[in-house]
Amino acid sequence: MSVFAVLLAAGESRRFDGAGNKLLQRLPGGRRVWEASFDALRNHPKVDGVGIVGSDESFAKANADFVVPGGATRCESSLIGVRQAPSGALVLVHDAARPWASQQLISTVIEGAKQSGACVPVVPVIDTLKSVEDGVVGRTVDRSKLYCAQTPQAAIREPLLEALFASPDATDEASALEFAGITVAAVPGEPANKKVTTRGDLPQGLLISSTGTGFDIHAFSADPNRKLMLGGVHFKGSRGLEGHSDADVLLHALTDALLGAIGGGDIGVLFPNTDPANKNVDSMTFVRRARDLVCDAGGSIVSIDLTLLAEAPKLGEKRAEIRKRISQELGLSERRINIKATTMEGLGAIGRSEGIAAMAAATVALPISYHEE
Ligand code: MG
Repeated sequence: MSVFAVLLAAGESRRFDGAGNKLLQRLPGGRRVWEASFDALRNHPKVDGVGIVGSDESFAKANADFVVPGGATRCESSLIGVRQAPSGALVLVHDAARPWASQQLISTVIEGAKQSGACVPVVPVIDTLKSVEDGVVGRTVDRSKLYCAQTPQAAIREPLLEALFASPDATDEASALEFAGITVAAVPGEPANKKVTTRGDLPQGLLISSTGTGFDIHAFSADPNRKLMLGGVHFKGSRGLEGHSDADVLLHALTDALLGAIGGGDIGVLFPNTDPANKNVDSMTFVRRARDLVCDAGGSIVSIDLTLLAEAPKLGEKRAEIRKRISQELGLSERRINIKATTMEGLGAIGRSEGIAAMAAATVALPISYHEE
């Protein structure tokens, strides 16, 4: 019987402190969370193939049998992945957020499913459990029969497909199988096989904080059709700025601040304005690239502070829109992003409304080893 593994990597990591996608965080040693989960499956001698369900660009680098985008729920993503497995295969479904599954655990799960058709690794509940109502303990729950489910969970492809299809709201494969009336064997899980949910679940090592600054200025364009873009938001009815890209001064200053924090040079080195590929390009592309470089450095963005220097337009309601846009692109909580604006009181080129400038500061948490040679 062939054994095929499906890695679920489509989650949104909503609980990860607003600090980026948890699957992309690096573990000590340099691998990303999803990579460690993937390698555990790929390196197992009894696993014949591994596919990934999820859509981050970095998945393309893995030696996966397929990479397919996920669905709206865990179950839907699982269904999408299991469908890709060869017919008749024993399919293992594993959370990409569990990077510490051991080879022994994977063997146990494969053996368990071969014997019984379907199995789930479980660990006993350690804490004493209380049933609480209206703030008062009703009773202490007998925990002797209670266990926490882990992954990888395994079953034969066809009954698993049917079960997942029938129970789109199931929270894991074992419960979908259970609802379908299929017996699921419980095999011993491992306490170390934890799921990364919050930043605190990741071993951090020692972190240092590093701050970068950025400044940019662009003149107003003579072209009446040129759009004014600030912070990735279009200011309709305002005169546009001259520039090779879309001339978004706020995003250019932000890109430089992010690069500054990791000693990554500047925007001009990364995206030369002599490169036709950068002609009229959306400047969020530069921000995304800088964000990826921060991630590659093992860092995470702590906070961002932006200042726009312009006589007009006023930021007004667009301030919240810019904040939201940057928050979404960086996977950073809005509370960590500050946007300010000032006029130049009529002084200098900005004061004479010849252009717009912007300043930025970005603070990044970096592993202490980052600056060592
Ligand atoms: Mg610029």
